[in-house]
Amino acid sequence: MSKQNKIIAVANQKGGVGKTTTTVNLAVGLSMLKKKVLLIDLDPQGNATMACGVDARTLEVSACELLLQECEAVDAVIATNAVDLIGSNTNLTAAELALMEYEDPQMMLAAQLEELALNYDFILIDCPPSLSILTVNALAAADSVLIPMQCEYYALEGLTSLLDTIDRIKQTVNSGLEIEGLLRTMFDGRNNLANDVASQISEHFGTKVFSTVVPRNVKVAEAPSFGQSALEYDHLSRGAVAYKGLASELLRRNNV
Ligand code: ADP
Ligand code: MG
Repeated sequence: MSKQNKIIAVANQKGGVGKTTTTVNLAVGLSMLKKKVLLIDLDPQGNATMACGVDARTLEVSACELLLQECEAVDAVIATNAVDLIGSNTNLTAAELALMEYEDPQMMLAAQLEELALNYDFILIDCPPSLSILTVNALAAADSVLIPMQCEYYALEGLTSLLDTIDRIKQTVNSGLEIEGLLRTMFDGRNNLANDVASQISEHFGTKVFSTVVPRNVKVAEAPSFGQSALEYDHLSRGAVAYKGLASELLRRNNV
């Protein structure tokens, strides 16, 4: 069977909304459903790298060399327990500056993934909390964007700038870019405000919103300190069950 080759950027310029958590757990969820998955950590904080059980400080080849075309894409790939990984660390901050010396700084990742994508069903890119050139590289390379949103009062604030950026990328370098979906994360059903915001998001964005809602769950927060996804750390936890549901929903929505 041929591979899906779908590239999904997980983006939201707000920090702490669940981008990294979603990228890692969705990646592992898809891989448990027999999909071949590559996770690319595009945040200099290296949180997704650490959550995959890889020490970000000791990376020999990382997203930095990948973006600066200092290595073959395939040589940046590390095999981890559940998924393949291209890791990142603080070197990526330097790469961000160095990129601007290149002729086509927005397209560096896209160029590197053209061939590599053929090896995978899904490539998930964990974006940094900004609309920097790193995020722009992810959006330029991606087929779609998955937007995690925390169910809190300011959830919708700032979304306009992300949607504007997506539109700009569509009009310039990547006309095929789509919204994969908005994901409600860290949901606390006992909180009235969270309920209000969750329904607001769904009314506002309709079918673009995943019906899976990720609950606030301590196992999800604990897992990365063991270098694991929640699905590996405690597969029966409510968080893990939600992310398994998200993986199935994503496949269903893509008619896979
Ligand atoms: P981002 O990548 O958008 O900055 P993270 O995925 O790192 O966000 O999440 C921010 C913090 O919230 C982390 O400490 C993470 O462990 C925690 N967190 C994320 N999702 C959940 C959840 N569903 N339940 C509990 N804690 C969560
Ligand atoms: Mg993050």
